[in-house]
Amino acid sequence: MKPVIALVGRPNVGKSTLFNRLTKTRDAIVADFAGLTRDRHYGDGRLGDRDFIVVDTGGFEPDSTTGIVKEMAKQTRQAVAEADVVVFVVDIRLGLSAQDQDIARYLRTANKRILLAVNKAEGMSDSPLLGEFHELGLGEPHPISSAHGQGIRSLLEAALEPFDKTEEEFGAGPQEDGVIRLAVAGRPNVGKSTLINTWLGEERLVAFDMPGTTRDAIAVDFERHGQKFKLIDTAGLRRKGKVFEAIEKFSVVKTLQAISDANVVLLLVDATQGVSEQDAHIAGYVLDSGRAVVIAVNKWDAIDSYQREQLQRSIEQRLAFLKFAPILNISALKRQGLGPLWDALASAYSSAFKKMTTPVLTRLIQEATQHQTPKRIGAFRPKMRYAHQGGMNPPIVVIHGNSLEGITDVYKRYLEGRIRDHYKLVGTPLKIELRSSK
Ligand code: GDP
Ligand code: GDP
Repeated sequence: MKPVIALVGRPNVGKSTLFNRLTKTRDAIVADFAGLTRDRHYGDGRLGDRDFIVVDTGGFEPDSTTGIVKEMAKQTRQAVAEADVVVFVVDIRLGLSAQDQDIARYLRTANKRILLAVNKAEGMSDSPLLGEFHELGLGEPHPISSAHGQGIRSLLEAALEPFDKTEEEFGAGPQEDGVIRLAVAGRPNVGKSTLINTWLGEERLVAFDMPGTTRDAIAVDFERHGQKFKLIDTAGLRRKGKVFEAIEKFSVVKTLQAISDANVVLLLVDATQGVSEQDAHIAGYVLDSGRAVVIAVNKWDAIDSYQREQLQRSIEQRLAFLKFAPILNISALKRQGLGPLWDALASAYSSAFKKMTTPVLTRLIQEATQHQTPKRIGAFRPKMRYAHQGGMNPPIVVIHGNSLEGITDVYKRYLEGRIRDHYKLVGTPLKIELRSSK
């Protein structure tokens, strides 16, 4: 599972700047649902081949009536609790402040791995000013410049050092072992627990195991019609008697970790609420992850036919970037539409692990070219020679040829469409990579 790094510190020290430098995600996921007083941003980062999640706790305004520690605890405590590593950011230009001391005192009790990042230290990595931050009792200060990208790599290496696991330990990426690793994602109250309990309560569906925890993750193994599933917890599922219960209402971090850990993501949308900003954020993250996706509109029983029509249109519009994902209407409560949902999940899985051979792929791109030749750009016309499969979950097709930089996005989508049609891919993204030999 991806380690989680939380950025903590008073306002203006450069947390957002550092967040932007660490994350490659276009839009950070913003926790914009009720219950949070302030936005936290979540994004994906990568160091070499190691992935991690970054949480920016945002600024917290010191409030003279409540006192800084109390205020900070409110804004930051959950982020710290969910984090594996906390990066405490201070500002070398402003020096050590009483607020920093307060935050440090809080962090020392948090029982987490803490790194002290002294920001805005461009050209000052040997500065004697660094020395005063030793006082915080949080170990060696790491001088960095978020704005200029200095010291970031060694900070990250230190942050990720305990998670420096090899692939054997985490599994070498998605593998097809016949077990569908499934994450159920969606906003609070969309019906995740209801659906899971309905599933696990079904007679034919036997939850046969609940293995131990890996850093808090719980997975439930079950089997349906001979198909094995591993349901990855997104919301602190706990067994309560025969029923599984989500004890924590919603955790963005758990959702993100479950998505990266899954083969297939079931994205639940609430028919009575429509597609929210939050749904779109999660959907965007799923798209970036390359996982297979099935969208289920839950509580279909609770809306009338006019609303159904409206909703269908708005979903198609707002989640247009997940065009490959099938959309099913269900009622977890009334147990409606669940059969087709199982089928869709299974098809998404088999599409994600479709095996494509070099001869077939090569023939497909040749036929595609005959049907519609890529346009000449500059002096040379792109020439595709052959293609092979470069990965699964998502399937990656690598096309080799000459002058391929001239292939437009439109043409790539055309190729994608032809490959999708041929292999009948549903519910999985398909990646096309071009390799030009001049
Ligand atoms: P936050 O409130 O902690 O999220 O801080 P921001 O990321 O918004 O940064 C506050 C200010 O510090 C902005 O004007 C940034 O441009 C500036 N800043 C951030 N990082 C650096 C840095 O490494 N060097 C310098 N000189 N300025 C920085
Ligand atoms: P979670 O927070 O995503 O786990 O959502 P819950 O499973 O706790 O459900 C939230 C509320 O929605 C509960 O009151 C459920 O009874 C209700 N609910 C869940 N599924 C359905 C459904 O299919 N139809 C209707 N009408 N209500 C549902």
